[in-house]
Amino acid sequence: MACKKEKTFQFVIVGGGIAGVTCVEQLSSQIPSAGVALITAGPHIKAVTNYKQVSRTLEEFNVEERPSSVLEEKFPNLTVIHSAVKSLNTQSHTVETADGRVFGYKKLCICSGGRPKLLTQDNPYVLGIRDTDSAKVFQKQLSNAKRIVIVGNGGIALELVYEVEGCEVIWAVKDKAIGNTFFDAGAAQFLIPSLESNKSERAAPCKRPRYTTEEAAAAGALQTFTADRHLQRQGSGVTEPGSALGPDWHEGIVLRGAEQVSRRVSVEYECEVEKIFTSEELLNSPQQTLRPENGTWPVYIQLSNGQTFGCDFVVSAIGVVPNTEPFLHGNSFAVADDAGLKVDDHMVTSEPDVYAAGDVCTACWELSSLWQQMRLWTQARQMGWYAGRCMAAHVLSETIELDFCFELFSHITKFFNYKVVLLGKFNAQGLGPDHELLVRCTKGQEYVKVVLSGGKMVGAVLIGETDLEETFENLILNQMDLTPYGEELLNPNIDIEDYFD
Ligand code: FAD
Repeated sequence: MACKKEKTFQFVIVGGGIAGVTCVEQLSSQIPSAGVALITAGPHIKAVTNYKQVSRTLEEFNVEERPSSVLEEKFPNLTVIHSAVKSLNTQSHTVETADGRVFGYKKLCICSGGRPKLLTQDNPYVLGIRDTDSAKVFQKQLSNAKRIVIVGNGGIALELVYEVEGCEVIWAVKDKAIGNTFFDAGAAQFLIPSLESNKSERAAPCKRPRYTTEEAAAAGALQTFTADRHLQRQGSGVTEPGSALGPDWHEGIVLRGAEQVSRRVSVEYECEVEKIFTSEELLNSPQQTLRPENGTWPVYIQLSNGQTFGCDFVVSAIGVVPNTEPFLHGNSFAVADDAGLKVDDHMVTSEPDVYAAGDVCTACWELSSLWQQMRLWTQARQMGWYAGRCMAAHVLSETIELDFCFELFSHITKFFNYKVVLLGKFNAQGLGPDHELLVRCTKGQEYVKVVLSGGKMVGAVLIGETDLEETFENLILNQMDLTPYGEELLNPNIDIEDYFD
């Protein structure tokens, strides 16, 4: 870093996604006199709007993409710098941006998010979806596609298989059931019929915070999603990464292929990708048995269950990799197994005065037995907010305790047009064999699962309009012994709310 330092700020935040912006807002309101810089690669920032605390730990909010000037107008102490951070020198407390400027910091918070894990490098037929531009590339390619293969079993894959129309979808999952990241085989069975019905047949209204952009709100169409620039196609080279999309990112986007069919999804269970190859490679390969369709698709995917499928393109929805590269070189950050920057219970990394929040970090404090990190919108907001509070507290020499939001995992989302609430160890994560499950299911209406350990409720999955979230959240937080109630807990004829009042 040979360039001259342009300016030193008390606080520098890297990343204009939910985590970074929330951190900036928190710092600026807590210490209005402090000089704060937000350095972000994209031209827009993400703003949380209509924040609503639904219960003690459940929260809902909208996300809007906005010009950064909105933030600067609100906080006169704030300077927004639109350039990607190229390198960090933790010893001299400086960052260098891609446009060659160097800024000093007293305290730094890295909120650079993540990018999709891709199945192979340098393959133009493999797409990842992360931000508005990559969603646009996906939509464009889909409009000419007759068959696509979606690989992955997390939230993005779940949303895609449900939303894509006019194109055959082959969905390759490594587990025995769909949606393994979020629920068990029983919940998967409950949801599967939704894939077989037409979208309109299951269009029950579902209230969930919605991802919008200013332009999209005005025009209601994808072509207005112009903000970020992170082309996630392989081989295209990484440009400046934009913020991750959020819930309902596909609202207002036509995800339609070239065929007339409504939805045609077939699931390949318990398989992984062995190989991806082009039609030429397929035809020249001595191992391939030639089938009539061979050579007619642009790309082929061979799965570990022995099946090979031709398709127009493959979507890699197998998770995200934290964006840590620019920060690692020359420094000695402790990095977790999932490649995130390790942070302690004050969101501090292993480097002095460097904090991290959101998708880029990995929570490495002694976690509450009812909380786990998942790279989700709500956690990005909570971490950004808490990191801001910790940074301020440290500057003001105040003590601060781990926030209550890290006590109980809670998440509201929507899958296959059903409201989904996940609480605590909703999938019995990390519990021994002595845990118990109680399930209540009404086909097409609701699926309720409770996880009990030692007679106490430790987790729940609520699909549909169950209205049970607040009561169950309380029961989990109270850790009341529920043994006397047994299966009555899920008796639909008992008003459980009154019962525990
Ligand atoms: P990001 O939002 O990724 O922001 C990172 C910021 O850092 C960006 O502004 C980027 O431009 C900037 N940046 C990166 N590198 C640099 C650099 N070197 N220098 C400067 N700036 C840099 N979560 C849910 O809870 N529910 C959902 O339904 C859901 N659906 C999703 C659907 C999709 C398609 C995707 C991709 C994600 C979804 N998520 C969902 C996850 C959620 O969007 C993320 O967890 C969350 O947005 C992470 O926020 P963040 O601020 O940590 O990172």
